[in-house]
Amino acid sequence: MKHTPLMLLSFCVALLFAGCTSAQQDTKNDETQTSSIDWSAELSPEQYRILRQCGTEPPFTGEFWDHHERGVYQCAGCGSPLFSSQTKYESGSGWPSFFGALDSSNIRTRVDREHGMIRTELLCQSCGGHLGHLFNDGPAPDGLRYCINSVSLQFEHDSIASKEASPKGEQH
Ligand code: FE
Repeated sequence: MKHTPLMLLSFCVALLFAGCTSAQQDTKNDETQTSSIDWSAELSPEQYRILRQCGTEPPFTGEFWDHHERGVYQCAGCGSPLFSSQTKYESGSGWPSFFGALDSSNIRTRVDREHGMIRTELLCQSCGGHLGHLFNDGPAPDGLRYCINSVSLQFEHDSIASKEASPKGEQH
């Protein structure tokens, strides 16, 4: 079983690198309030590839996989608040991982049947941007892992996280 962690990591890399979708489609066609935005003009080429074309950044390369400051992670496309640093944890995957969303109504899911797999794709509810995927190998009690591309996020040190007084203290 010596190679199990490496095998698991390789499997996770394969899953995420597979990208999602039928959706090499531009997600601007989603029914969102921002569907008229010219995302190719608003986003960097890499942001466009991941947020609008359902791409994936290489593991251990993004800005936030090893980021541990307190604050809120927002959608890089529209600024919608998505995750608190209080739910960020080290999954070992090389992508920013969270065990819960800041407000689940800010994230929607879609079944991703590409590449012979059935996965749960995560998208920004506000702008339809591709964020990553949801897996069920996260920590207790819910066992959820929101596996997110750094490129899909922007970070803000702000009062939201500091006001989230957790009786259990820091969770990461
Ligand atoms: Fe967004």
